[in-house]
Amino acid sequence: MNVWPLKFRERSTGEFLFTDDAGGFFAGSRDFLERYAGDALSVVDRHFFRENGHTFEREGDPDWMSFAYRWARRQSKQQDLSYLILVPTLRCNLTCRYCQVSRAPESARGFDWNDETLKAVLGFIYGMKGPEIKIEFQGGEPLLRIDLLEQVRAFTRSKFPNSQFVVCTNLQRLGDREWTFLDQPDTFVSTSLDGNHETHTRQRTHDPLVTDTFFGNLAEAVRRLGPGKVSALPTIDVDRPPDFSDLVDNFELHGIRSIYLRPINHQGFARRRKSDPNSIAKWNALHSDFIDYIIDRNHRTGRFVEEYYFSQCLRRFLRSGADDHVDLRNPNFFASDYVVVDHDGQLYPTDEARMLSRIGRVDLSIGTVAEGVDQTKVRLLNHASINNFDADCIHCVYQPFCGTDVVDDLSRDGRVDVARSETWFCKRHISLFDKVVEIITRRDDAAMQSLARWARVPSWGDHMIPVHV
Ligand code: SF4
Repeated sequence: MNVWPLKFRERSTGEFLFTDDAGGFFAGSRDFLERYAGDALSVVDRHFFRENGHTFEREGDPDWMSFAYRWARRQSKQQDLSYLILVPTLRCNLTCRYCQVSRAPESARGFDWNDETLKAVLGFIYGMKGPEIKIEFQGGEPLLRIDLLEQVRAFTRSKFPNSQFVVCTNLQRLGDREWTFLDQPDTFVSTSLDGNHETHTRQRTHDPLVTDTFFGNLAEAVRRLGPGKVSALPTIDVDRPPDFSDLVDNFELHGIRSIYLRPINHQGFARRRKSDPNSIAKWNALHSDFIDYIIDRNHRTGRFVEEYYFSQCLRRFLRSGADDHVDLRNPNFFASDYVVVDHDGQLYPTDEARMLSRIGRVDLSIGTVAEGVDQTKVRLLNHASINNFDADCIHCVYQPFCGTDVVDDLSRDGRVDVARSETWFCKRHISLFDKVVEIITRRDDAAMQSLARWARVPSWGDHMIPVHV
């Protein structure tokens, strides 16, 4: 009997987590580890391996094939280009304390698509395969150029009738024309909601009256469009985090139960603020506390709120195919299924790459919307966009569930060849997956109820994580 190589990590409880390259996992004891490492497996060990899919008799047998299939399913499949992030204008009518997207003043000139760029964008869309595509309008504040949004949507609908549109807006200024645009079945709203009134004013509007307008428009958007059509993201300042209870109350008040906590983005103009070398430890502690808070809250209220990214990590841990978050998949090849078109027609592999280029740190543009994607540049970036051969990742128990983010590495370290275990990305994901394992090994009702909802399974039981002593 051959055993597929297992990786292991000691947990704070003294137990060990074991995983294989296909994403199989179980919790085990130190005694078991010593038997495994000392080539002294018992009959019971071998039986457990067999039952849990960690062994095969010979290459090509059903167990071998099954493992190969599960391994292949763990590799994200690159799709056809079907998702565009469009930046029709860089201008914005707010000056947030940290700007996530490198804005320009509302009255500035030269920061919107010109006629040639619009024409090239429509030509680019025309060349996509479909049958459905998704378009996200970013900015600046994209509703400042409602005319461009209307033209793009009308054109896209004419070629790909089942497409979807997302408008990422600060919801500050909406007239009849803007509401009419948003109030359509194929159109969704994404906005920023940083917690309570005080936090939102401090971080974004700097004026309580402007914040009142925002909250009024958010309530109106949920009322008119329905809660499923409006999503909101909080950006968290790790040194001044909002009160968790206030934060979740405010989201629930607007019918939003999936909350994606994001630290202040390191890219864009936010980078000019001094960065704290301990910020990742602070962030990990804050995020972990938030997960504990919502588990307890869900149990008390019977209403189920999730932290979006934690749920995504949980689902990736439990099964293959959870590759729908573009920041967490492996391989994570650029310009395969989505691309960003900036206000000047430049193409970028991600929105973060656009911001990084805008502040002049490195040019990550990959062509223009008129001339198409520069595949030579894309290949260069893709070289490091895979964790299967990384010197640290190959030894990591979380490798099958984790991903890569070259743009984040470049942003923080200025290079892509820093030891992976030293990167912000790695420290964040080690902590996240440790938290996943901590929660899925809890046996109390509170944890199990939330886990079932977050994992999208009918119920959660002890069998979800095999144990072998
Ligand atoms: S980036 Fe870190 S957590 Fe992710 S697989 Fe690599 S070593 Fe593991």
